[in-house]
Amino acid sequence: MTKVMAKSKKHSVGQRAQEPGHHDHQAVPSDVALRVKALESLLVEKGIVDPAALDALVHTFERKVGPRNGARVVARAWTDPAYKKRLLTNASDAIAELGYTSGQGEHMVVLENAAKVHNMVVCTLCSCYPWPVLGLPPVWYKSAPYRSRAVIDPRGVLKEFEVEVQDDVEVRVWDSTAELRYLVLPERPAGTENMTEEQLAGLVTRDSMIGVAKATKPGGGGRT
Ligand code: FE
Repeated sequence: MTKVMAKSKKHSVGQRAQEPGHHDHQAVPSDVALRVKALESLLVEKGIVDPAALDALVHTFERKVGPRNGARVVARAWTDPAYKKRLLTNASDAIAELGYTSGQGEHMVVLENAAKVHNMVVCTLCSCYPWPVLGLPPVWYKSAPYRSRAVIDPRGVLKEFEVEVQDDVEVRVWDSTAELRYLVLPERPAGTENMTEEQLAGLVTRDSMIGVAKATKPGGGGRT
């Protein structure tokens, strides 16, 4: 059984660039990139923004905000039942407990995968994504085929990501919006009883927190 769990409402202001028909495969810098550069130059020249502040922002999103944050959230939930309960009840606050509070993630919901339930996340209209815990979205997440097919044929999409979901497992597809963003809590793999929280975090891939992969088995490879 497949359900689409939420309808898109408001999406981020940048959504137009991601809408179907938009073509972003260009060899030269895109119009948007050139305009951003022009604006940056102008703002710096007029003394309105400090280039060092811009560099610090870019550094944050390149180095500090990323799926390792989400992996720490998942590993904590796997090892601390009280934290897991808080995470499933009020995800935004529980995530903030670990210090992950930047923008594009103020209203979070965590979805728990289990033996008979598999959750996966999409943004059908654009690319809404929980930045504080997963960083910036991968290209495929923003692509039109993923955005449409995740809803029409989620099992087919999962198969392409090499995730086998048995027929008796319910697949739930959650449609992100700018107001509500999702993080999947993957199942803790078997054979990890003696692992530390830090070791467990190493098993939690970005894709497993979007719901297009399972957490990596200990000692095994697996998709990232
Ligand atoms: Fe969106």
